[in-house]
Amino acid sequence: MSLNTFAPQTGKATGKPVERLQPGGSIAVVGAGSFGGWTALYLLRKGYNVTLIDAWGPGNSRSSSGDETRVIRSTYGANEFYFDLNVRALTLWKEHEVQWKTRLVQNKGVLWMCYEAHTPVVDNSIPFAEKHHMPYERLEKTEIAKRYPIVNTDDLSHAWLDPYGGCLRAREACQAVYKGFIAEGGKVIQAQVMPGKFEHHRLTGLQLSNGQSLQADLYLFACGSWLGKLFPDVLGSIITCTRQEVYYFGVPHDNPAPYENFPVWIDADGKDFYYGIPGNNYRGFKVGVDERGEAFDPTVGDRVLNPNVLSKARKFLAHRFPGLKDAPLVENRVCPYENSPDGNFLFDHHPEANNLFFLGGGSGHGFKHGPALGELISEIIAGNKPIPQQFLLNR
Ligand SMILES: Cc1cc2nc3c(=O)[nH]c(=O)nc-3n(C[C@H](O)[C@H](O)[C@H](O)COP(=O)(O)OP(=O)(O)OC[C@H]3O[C@@H](n4cnc5c(N)ncnc54)[C@H](O)[C@@H]3O)c2cc1C
Repeated sequence: MSLNTFAPQTGKATGKPVERLQPGGSIAVVGAGSFGGWTALYLLRKGYNVTLIDAWGPGNSRSSSGDETRVIRSTYGANEFYFDLNVRALTLWKEHEVQWKTRLVQNKGVLWMCYEAHTPVVDNSIPFAEKHHMPYERLEKTEIAKRYPIVNTDDLSHAWLDPYGGCLRAREACQAVYKGFIAEGGKVIQAQVMPGKFEHHRLTGLQLSNGQSLQADLYLFACGSWLGKLFPDVLGSIITCTRQEVYYFGVPHDNPAPYENFPVWIDADGKDFYYGIPGNNYRGFKVGVDERGEAFDPTVGDRVLNPNVLSKARKFLAHRFPGLKDAPLVENRVCPYENSPDGNFLFDHHPEANNLFFLGGGSGHGFKHGPALGELISEIIAGNKPIPQQFLLNR
């Protein structure tokens, strides 16, 4: 999870219209992570003939969407655009959970632990939360200690609890979307894709690693942290990949409940902040460090832990949750962040091909938005909405 510092923004700014694709037209979506999977599903529902292709499968271990869980939270400082996108996404996640009879959302709440009287990333979202009738609850130190005795509150000023947030089952959700897409008539292929030739400002087709080629009216590359390497001339310096580690610590055998039932938490010190997702599927007390890691190759990079980052996480854990001071590391993962320069998502067409679109730049906060983003992209392709200004290549 990443807390990007966005400028205040609404989604109402005029963006760029795209050439409308008539229903029945064919679309190839490359990448079945959160962005590509949901977008393929919503394009299918708009009446397009959609093929979804992924090299290693939906929610695979190399992808950004391939971890156990991701945070869903509305809080975006003064940025109303992402606040609203999250509200829509939360509704859609819950609708699909019912439709597919699959647990996707854990509405455990998100606890923001604040050091200063004023914490802009939370405080500036409070008016939006009230507007949507999704208010946050302020907890003074005594109340934090009463409700959550496992927390050391010594250096905190107060906390905010967003009771509408929580976490999503990430890799399982990608697979549920994939199955839903197939059930509604979508076609899938497992193969690595390379873009073919450009002619007359159009991409002419895709080359697949199984030796086949594929032609469509429109091509959408939702390839997460691979986008920079796939299109080095255009995206090489725009979408960069860094390695990020998450750790799962074992909860005490004689007192697991206060740890497993603890909300998703974010330590809002405004620096290299820590966050965690406790108690999903008995995987342990998950801790993430949101410091940008080293540059990483998501295809061939080994997923071996960096002991320095682990020792920072352990030190922080012992400080904030003293009962976990000697907790064993029971699992871990190295995941790729697919960073855009300003943390905004990217959706635009290739400057030399009007029928080739990029979708990416999740920048450590994109997963939760998958369904709302997919819905929005389908409206844009259908010619009903412009591309929001903040998604454009030249923004
Ligand atoms: C450690 C970590 C913590 C995060 N925490 C949160 C969080 O708490 N909340 C949140 O909302 N977001 C979070 N994020 C961000 C979120 O996970 C990503 O923004 C999101 O998963 C991106 O999805 P995507 O579909 O763009 O990319 P991916 O999930 O990486 O999917 C891209 C897909 O493209 C496929 N692919 C790539 N190249 C090719 C090719 N040439 N041919 C065929 N297939 C190809 C890959 O196999 C992959 O399946 C976090 C990210 C990380 C790394």
